[in-house]
Amino acid sequence: MEEIKSMINKIGKNITKTSKDIIKNTKLSMQLSSEEEKLKNLYIETGKKVYEIYSYGGNIGDFFEEKYKQMVQVEREIAIIKEKMAQNKNTNDQVDNSQNIVDKRQISTVEECRICQSCGQKNGLNDRFCLKCGRVL
Ligand SMILES: [Zn+2]
Repeated sequence: MEEIKSMINKIGKNITKTSKDIIKNTKLSMQLSSEEEKLKNLYIETGKKVYEIYSYGGNIGDFFEEKYKQMVQVEREIAIIKEKMAQNKNTNDQVDNSQNIVDKRQISTVEECRICQSCGQKNGLNDRFCLKCGRVL
């Protein structure tokens, strides 16, 4: 009984942990798409501006330098977010694995005993007669 209780507690904790990770991941993927959008806009903005400057024979150097720095910054943010998401995915996988172990244990305890139809005694899987009442299993 104590064992089942702790098992239920463990599964409950895992579920709470997993849903927290999902929320964390949703937040991260929102951040990711916002950063990716930022980068896309920078590309467009830069391309347009470079075209304009070039058309009028202006100097692209300084402008491009500044935009390039911004792009590198945003790319770095994206890399950090992706890294965080990968880490969360790994913790989720670990949670899944521990749940699988619990499930397997439950199945094996069910398989490892034969319950007597007449007295309810648990008998070993290989027992042919009930240990308590002697009925054929
Ligand atoms: Zn029996």
